[in-house]
Amino acid sequence: MALILRHRPIDLHLRHTFRIARGASDVRHNLVVEVDDGRQVGLGEAAPILRYQQDRASTAAAIDRMAERLGDARAYAQAARRAAVAGQAAAEAAVDMALHDLAGKRLGVPLYELLGIAPGPTPETSFTIGLDAPEVVARKVREASAYAVLKVKLGSDEDRAVLEAVRDTSPHQRLRVDANEGWTMEGALERLAWLERLGVEFVEQPLPADRIEETRALRRLSPLPFYADESVHRAEDIPRLAGAFDGINIKLMKCGGIGEALRMIAVARAHGMNVMLGCMIESSLAITAAAHLAPLVDAADLDGNALVADDPFVGATLEAGRLALPNGPGLGVRPARNVSE
Ligand code: MG
Repeated sequence: MALILRHRPIDLHLRHTFRIARGASDVRHNLVVEVDDGRQVGLGEAAPILRYQQDRASTAAAIDRMAERLGDARAYAQAARRAAVAGQAAAEAAVDMALHDLAGKRLGVPLYELLGIAPGPTPETSFTIGLDAPEVVARKVREASAYAVLKVKLGSDEDRAVLEAVRDTSPHQRLRVDANEGWTMEGALERLAWLERLGVEFVEQPLPADRIEETRALRRLSPLPFYADESVHRAEDIPRLAGAFDGINIKLMKCGGIGEALRMIAVARAHGMNVMLGCMIESSLAITAAAHLAPLVDAADLDGNALVADDPFVGATLEAGRLALPNGPGLGVRPARNVSE
């Protein structure tokens, strides 16, 4: 089956400037991938990750390389991995997603059915509150009342004031925090004590990605569970994290796509670890691809599209704090109306 693989840029403008411990942004330069078999078109999305030296140009170049060596698309579960360019997981994820979308469309079934997954229920998804001054954080919390769970970005000197502002504004939403590698061992211990008192459920990536043994020592003293994010990319990273983290955060853009995400879920379970599905700032296209796996996991942080003011796609929708999967073939994603690109 001869395939044509194309890509085009999409700019996603954010509702608010988004800050984490490493930096800030107002617009994200993502790409849409189309895999065309002459009858149907499968869609995928790449959100290049700056931390891994990816940008739109390097991602586009990687997709072009993958187009040359893609091979038979009927092998949709392996084709992207075989064609992938080293260090370009976002490009790999986009092609993998598009191949899965195409397979579902060719067979006329939703992706969850293609994978043998019940369409729900999915875990309640959290809404991410970026790093900001406490008064800005309080305003964002008020805008997130549709969500049962908030994930608050920490990693500054104002961590405690920020969390207290969140708690004061919203006494009832469940809370998780993400330090994005921003703490030291000593600072983490002090923070963990009051985070527990404020009712936080768990902490994502307290220490830098390579500090696995320090994280293991910290976890022995911690009243709260830890999830790995920057410390875990693919399935082969997971065994050494057992005992240092209680769970892993899988992102399609980090791991290279749906097939690898499924492998990661299996390996994490084999090590008795919990699984969260996370995202970068992505449109509803990539968010929906991840949402098809959400019935398999313990926690969902699939809110990247909710941070975007001009989402060009419609897919999984938020219903009572949970993502509801679309029933159309493949990813079930369609273009949003009234959006000109
Ligand atoms: Mg994170």
